[in-house]
Amino acid sequence: MAEYDVDLFVIGGGSGGVRAARIAAGYGARVVVAEEYRMGGTCVIRGCVPKKLFVIGSHVHQEIEDAAGFGWSIGDVSFDWATLVANKDKEIARLEGAYTTNVEKSGARIVKTRAVLEDAHTIRLGTGETVTAKYILIATGGAPNHGPAIPGIEHVISSNEAFHLKELPKRIVIQGGGYIALEFAGIFAGYGSDVTVVYRGENILRGFDEDVRKHVRAEMEKRGITIITGCTVTKVDKHGRDFTSHLSGGSSIASDQVMFAIGRHPNVANLGLETAGVAINPANGGIQVDGWSKTSADNIYAIGDVTHRTNLTPVAIREGHAFADTVFGKRPVQVDHATIPTAVFSQPEVGTVGLTEEEARTQFSHIDVYKADFRPIKATMSGRDTRVLMKLVVDGLSDRVLGCHIVGDCAAEITQAVAIAVKMKATKADFDATVALHPTASEELVTMRTPTARHVRQAAE
Ligand code: FAD
Ligand code: NDP
Repeated sequence: MAEYDVDLFVIGGGSGGVRAARIAAGYGARVVVAEEYRMGGTCVIRGCVPKKLFVIGSHVHQEIEDAAGFGWSIGDVSFDWATLVANKDKEIARLEGAYTTNVEKSGARIVKTRAVLEDAHTIRLGTGETVTAKYILIATGGAPNHGPAIPGIEHVISSNEAFHLKELPKRIVIQGGGYIALEFAGIFAGYGSDVTVVYRGENILRGFDEDVRKHVRAEMEKRGITIITGCTVTKVDKHGRDFTSHLSGGSSIASDQVMFAIGRHPNVANLGLETAGVAINPANGGIQVDGWSKTSADNIYAIGDVTHRTNLTPVAIREGHAFADTVFGKRPVQVDHATIPTAVFSQPEVGTVGLTEEEARTQFSHIDVYKADFRPIKATMSGRDTRVLMKLVVDGLSDRVLGCHIVGDCAAEITQAVAIAVKMKATKADFDATVALHPTASEELVTMRTPTARHVRQAAE
């Protein structure tokens, strides 16, 4: 009789857990995946996918406005939020089904229940049953932070609820200045809501390149989004269907919804981590792992958002795949977390890969900056007041392109392709040797000849 019931027990059927389960089962392992909510996890059910669908739809109004300059006259248009939500739900249900089928086809078994650790080799299911496993993979993801316990916090929604609102809010206050706050600000504004973003710091998108931060803010403001910086929501009052958000500066804003998008925390609570000897990383609250995603318990691994490293779907997938290759495929793989491209699907979109100018200047003595800030061709006829930003950060000594930052239409798509070159350590000369593709916005990336700034750090005395 086998020593354990299964070879691998995966807790969490999201991006990372599903990939790990499928690959491990492909290597012949006996695999069970436990999912307490819906197969597909955050990305599929209430993250990347429904968000992108909402973003795509929210562009339509602007397209219609821009069409006039090209000779179109489009009659009365109307938008129905309920149709959008229902069609999105249908697509998400289809994807959930596909995820389930694909896991089952791989030979892994799904149990639709919560699972927690009882000891290093035993998992207790919500049904009360226990399962023993040689290896355990924790892939429980993360959840929205609710924020400080301010009066009225119970009236505040997170991105989870934003996907299921019964009506499009006419006015919404969104607290936060990161990915989710800006993406939903663009979504709601695109469908016609009056949007106010409240951010505690000096400018939105902390951690992004300074030029990107300024550019995105200016462009969002041009599109009618109000951005209030340097304050927080300290209290939310509800009167009938209306809310009043009181701000730390003393002012207040009336709205139909209040949303907080103030970060996410790893799902580590009540998982039985202590009983299994799995340590938490004190620096970030996620499960502590080494370069192989192994936890402090020898047979227990953790991947994806629950480790709070780089909280992006492709990273969780890659970590899950690397874990399965390493443990079941006899093919040791470590995930390289350097130079991961990322996009904020705000409006306009941000795409970025590699170092910001600020990071590069602290790490390298000679930095050349190439920057183009221009009116895109479409705006010449649509009349829209908008500009695109393209920026390359280059090591002045080796000529290597260290970072690329784009704000404008298709920034994410462009960045995915540029990321290959940056990952391959392409030099500015390689970019220059590439013939432009005309007329595009991204041709600027291979035609910027003269640095707009050159920074040389003097050697310390
Ligand atoms: P998850 O996908 O969160 O999966 C974890 C699963 O575990 C969940 O299904 C959960 O129900 C289940 N679970 C938890 N505890 C238990 C338990 N004890 N027992 C059983 N099941 C359990 N990333 C991008 O790359 N691009 C984007 O555009 C993007 N947009 C996003 C938009 C939003 C609104 C949000 C919230 C996130 C977005 N992300 C995006 C981030 C991305 O969704 C996550 O990085 C990714 O889903 C992490 O995958 P994971 O496998 O670690 O966890
Ligand atoms: P982010 O970390 O991106 O942004 C959180 C924002 O909330 C920051 O502006 C932060 O300010 C602010 N904040 C944090 N705590 C408080 C507080 N107590 N009061 C007021 N403001 C606060 O998190 P999100 O929630 O936007 O998204 C979570 C993660 O999900 C992202 O970091 C990303 O990894 C992933 N994601 C990826 C997407 C993509 O790839 N397109 C899309 C959506 C999510 P400060 O900067 O000052 O700390």
